[in-house]
Amino acid sequence: MSRSAHPAGPRHADVLPEGHYSAPPADLNALDSRVWSQTVQRDGDGAVRVGGIDVRQLAEEFGTPAYFLDEADFRARCRAWRDAFGHDADVFYAGKAFLSRAVVRWLNEEGLNLDVCSGGELATALGAGMPAERIALHGNNKSTEEISRAVEAGVGRIVLDSYQEIARVAHIARKLGVRQRVQIRVTVGVEAHTHEFIATAHEDQKFGLALADGDAAEAVRRVLQLDSLELIGIHSHIGSQIFDMAGFEVSARRVVGLLADIRDEHGVELPEIDLGGGLGIAYTPEDDPSEPHEIAKALRDIVTRECESAGLAVPRLSVEPGRAIVGPTAFTLYEVGTIKELDGLRTYVSVDGGMSDNIRTALYDAEYSVALVSRASDAPPMLSRVVGKHCESGDIVVRDAFLPADLAPGDLLAVPATGAYCRSMASNYNHALRPPVVAVRDGEARAVVRRETEEDLLRLDVG
Ligand SMILES: *Cc1c(COP(=O)(O)O)cnc(C)c1O
Repeated sequence: MSRSAHPAGPRHADVLPEGHYSAPPADLNALDSRVWSQTVQRDGDGAVRVGGIDVRQLAEEFGTPAYFLDEADFRARCRAWRDAFGHDADVFYAGKAFLSRAVVRWLNEEGLNLDVCSGGELATALGAGMPAERIALHGNNKSTEEISRAVEAGVGRIVLDSYQEIARVAHIARKLGVRQRVQIRVTVGVEAHTHEFIATAHEDQKFGLALADGDAAEAVRRVLQLDSLELIGIHSHIGSQIFDMAGFEVSARRVVGLLADIRDEHGVELPEIDLGGGLGIAYTPEDDPSEPHEIAKALRDIVTRECESAGLAVPRLSVEPGRAIVGPTAFTLYEVGTIKELDGLRTYVSVDGGMSDNIRTALYDAEYSVALVSRASDAPPMLSRVVGKHCESGDIVVRDAFLPADLAPGDLLAVPATGAYCRSMASNYNHALRPPVVAVRDGEARAVVRRETEEDLLRLDVG
């Protein structure tokens, strides 16, 4: 089966001729609630506040570029996911989207579990007090060291990704005298990106064990023979920034099909399935993501229906949203440095960060929006490209944006929805100092990850 949904709207580059831009927004000062976190608002004097604090004051205190994370919004999103899935399902926050000790504490307090995929993420999770049984370890090439630390700590599950790893985890668990709970990650032949998905027999990528050629079934056979492993379920993660639930439908059907095969062949019904993460968020007002309760209902309905038709008891469901929780909770604040008007083309606006704090535009052509936040403006819209300060012409933060024509050096710009995969993918390219992440809540702001310093850089450079 193969199908794809229609593109979401006329903004998509692949359905528009080159050089065609959507019309400027009616009001350049408006802050669309789909892309800005819940406490962001523009004041009477025109400047923007988050968590009750003026961005000019935040820039003064923490410098730019910096990420400002709206803690109330983060916690509200955690609760929305938790409540939507209820007590017979588990929500695992995907730590790779953004992880810090403060975030781990918030997750813990809000009753979420945590996915980690490296020793560093595991150390952060354990160090900040996440109970090990609520941690899942992922990754397609976990080191022996990482596996040992996870088993020793007592993580709730390790998601197995290859035949070699089955043997490795079994060996380590046996040595430590532990029966380790595991899931097997399968590839179901669904490639999902944003508004389309393709269902095929095979997926041409590095993760998981393929259902189509029997690798997944063989992995199940091997795991069931090993005393040091307890197989608790099957895992599938189909992509990222997905809006169309139809990809999850195919995935759930194929995973449940495997559960039925396992029952028929081995006489066991596995108690859990994990449908992964990948739920989309609004980067621009054109994106229209579903609410957690709608997603939960859709996934539950799909799994229940598939299990009923296979004659299986409905397994416990887990999901792993990363972006959908943290993405919308933060914006990046930049100061405008230079402005170049290219006649008949567009205006290049250079800010004091760039691909070192947001690689997503360069890496995946991601779309973002941007607003002037240090003041309001009545000037007409100017077609702009917001670029960074790095030595690459691909160093673009926002490819196409309308900003007020009176924009000037020293103005502050904010790019919303940068909570996920921005700080966590930040680099030191050009020896940039990675920006801080500042949590803002009820009139108080504190750095939860401080700004890197030149001493930090030089400390690693041992000469
Ligand atoms: C990346 C990843 C996630 C989270 O993806 P989002 O798009 O941030 O929701 C969840 N599960 C697995 C296995 C992943 O690799």
